[in-house]
Parts: sequence; structure tokens; C-alpha cells
Amino acid sequence: MSFQAPKGTFDWLPPRSERALAVRETLVAPARRAGYGYVETPTFEDTALFVRGVGESTDVVSKEMYTFTDKGGRSITLRPEGTAPVVRAVLQHGLHNGQLPVKLWYSGSQFRYERAQKGRYRHFWQVGAEALGAEDPALDAELILLAADGYAGLGLTGVRLLLNTLGCKECRPGYRAALQEFLRALDLDEPTRARIEINPLRVLDDKRPEVQAQLAGAPLVVDHLCEACKAYHEEVRSLLTASGVAFSDDPRLVRGLDYYTRTTFEFVHDGLGSQSAVGGGGRYDGLSEMIGGPALPSVGWALGVDRTVLAMEAEGLFEEGSAGERVQVYGVPLGEEARRRMFLLVTELRRAGLGADMSFGGKGVKGAMKGADRSGARYALILGERDLAAQAVQLKDLTTAEQTEVPLAEVADILKGKFS
Ligand code: AMP
Repeated sequence: MSFQAPKGTFDWLPPRSERALAVRETLVAPARRAGYGYVETPTFEDTALFVRGVGESTDVVSKEMYTFTDKGGRSITLRPEGTAPVVRAVLQHGLHNGQLPVKLWYSGSQFRYERAQKGRYRHFWQVGAEALGAEDPALDAELILLAADGYAGLGLTGVRLLLNTLGCKECRPGYRAALQEFLRALDLDEPTRARIEINPLRVLDDKRPEVQAQLAGAPLVVDHLCEACKAYHEEVRSLLTASGVAFSDDPRLVRGLDYYTRTTFEFVHDGLGSQSAVGGGGRYDGLSEMIGGPALPSVGWALGVDRTVLAMEAEGLFEEGSAGERVQVYGVPLGEEARRRMFLLVTELRRAGLGADMSFGGKGVKGAMKGADRSGARYALILGERDLAAQAVQLKDLTTAEQTEVPLAEVADILKGKFS
């Protein structure tokens, strides 16, 4: 029997794994430039944090959590999302008692027991940014801009921004009641009817055509907003417009986690089939209180790294071959003594800051040169017995096949010059 990665998971292997690393870095670069600091929370938390923070009625909590009892009898859950842990960390360490907003970013694995398909996994990667402790439409706009700039930094052109507001604790109850009244009159199955009572907004998100067909005349939150929410949302929209960020108003955009209030947004990509959301977020003014903290109005996002890589592949943004460049220089030693000397030379090159590898396993010249080609290196260093005697090495440009002899003592400097 041989083992396979568990269902709904996959391995990131080179060169794709390198792309994923670079994608993470590029996605969060704008947030780092805006003063967001790095936070790393544990991969698992007290189960109650998610039950209270994300909401018992959500699919994430009711069906998708990886929950187990540890050897000390505690109920532990592998994190399904990053926001509740970040808020927990802020409260635990009193960061909210200092300068506000607290601006943080994170990068990490998330775990959800979902129906696995392309773009939807049980273990996936998100990068996220959160600004805690300020109620200011400029902050919502800032975060949206930072995410949009992250996608733009990757060269993605097919990402669209959908924007909505979900109202606040003043106006949401009125809207909720109106929506429930509308939904109760529809022809829906039992589980959906139950959802109307617990989380009616989620019914709007039902993807089944027979449900969608009945939702055409559903009341929209935009028609139930209080004056404060209206003004707030207008300011967010106007700042986005002034910053040149294109968006579509999507009055039906609701999100899977319960904690969202006011601004909500999603970034979608049309090259991904049904799992089109590459990122999303919004304001979560009540989350801190839901997990026992003080009022701490906050806003944030999480961007899916796996799906962003898929979107980049759909747009053909990874040049074939380019990511195959593992090193800059590759050593081809011929003979026992040359191998020892090459080992030292490669070490010297690496310490000098060059990407260097060499042939291992006692290969002959043909096999070793094949290794050089596969490594993506620009130069091969060929070291034979005659070279050793002359304290020299053959420097071969693998793109032109031009070969020159250089003294061993100078090779690091010469190569550094070529790559500077
Ligand atoms: P959410 O935390 O549900 O708001 O998701 C934010 C982003 O994470 C989504 O837009 C997706 O890009 C990504 N994401 C969420 N769930 C999954 C999953 N099961 N597999 C892969 N990516 C996911």
C-alpha cells in the first residue's frame, strides 16, 4: 500500500510551490507598506472561539470544522479562518489598549471539511489583513485598495470587485424581519426553511437555480439601511472611485461567516469555474464582543492563495520554464578529486550569494551536463583533471555554449560580476 495525501488536500511541489510562495508575498506587500504588522497565531484554537466568533449557524461551524478532543480533554479545532484567532490574540495581549487601529496581517493554512473540487480544498492557504478598533470608511476603503493592489501586483487583470453593505445592529434587524417574511412564503425544502429562522441572509446565497428563481423579488438590504449606514457606504464607494478602483455594487452579496456588518466585498475571477471567489472580507464590528471583548469595530480580508495561483494560471501569467530556474550556476566535476574541489567551490559561490548546485552521485559528463540543463542555470562550471592541475575551471555559458577558462581563485568574482 502506498499513501496518498488526504482527500481534499494536495502537495505543493516545485516549481509551482515557488510560485505560491511568491504569490503570498506579493499579495501582502501593499498591506505591509501600509503599516500592517505580521501576526502568527496557532494553527488550532479552543473550539468555542469559532463557535462563538464565526457563528453556530454557519456552514463553516455546523459542518466543516476539524474538531477533536486533545489528550487533556479540551475541545480543539483546526482553524477554519484567520479573523477570530487574530481578534482573540489582540484581546489576549491588550493590543487594543494602544494606538488604534491595530493593523495586522497573517499568512497560513486553513482547514474546512468541504466537498472537495477544483479550487475548493479541505486544507488551503490564505493571506489576510485586519485593522481593528476604528470605525472609519477610509479604513474599509484602504483595505479594499490594498487587496486590489495585491492582485494587480501579480499582473492579474481578470479580478473583479463586488461590493455591498449588510447594515448594522440598528438597521439589520428590520431587514432581517422583512427578508424572513418574504422567504417564509416561498416553496423551499425543510433545511432551507430552518435556515430562514436562523440565518436568513444565507438563503440569498443559495446557489440552486430553483431557489434563485424564487429570490428575484427578495427585499434588499440597501432598501433598509439606516442613515448612518447609507452615509458610511457612500463614503467607502466614493473613496474607491476617487482611487481608481473599479467595483460593481452587488446588493445580494452576503458572506459565509456571521460576523460581518456594513461593508462586505468579494474579489472574483471568471477563469475559475464555480469556485470564482479569490478573496473577500468586510467589516465585523460585533466580533470582539461575540468572543467576550469590548466593542472593537474592525475590518479585514482574507485572500485565497490556492485560487489566486489558479487564476494566474488561467491568465497564463507563469512563463513556462521561467520558474524552473532553480540555480544560477551548476558544477560539473569530472573525477574524484574534482568532486571534492567542486564541493568547496559551490560552497564558496553560495556564500558569495549566488544560486549554485552541482552534480551528485558520481555521474559522467553526459549525465552531469543534463543536470546542468535541467537546473535552469545560466552557467556550467566544468572541472576536469587538467583544469585542476592548472588551478582553472571551464566556464560554459549554457545559452550560447561559449566556453572560457577562468582561474579557480577568480571564478566567484567573475560570476558575481556577470549576475550583478
Ligand atoms: P472566506 O474565509 O470564506 O471568506 O474565504 C476567503 C477566500 O479564501 C475565498 O475567497 C477563497 O479564495 C479562499 N477559500 C475559502 N475556502 C476555500 C477552500 N475550501 N479552498 C480553497 N480556497 C478557499
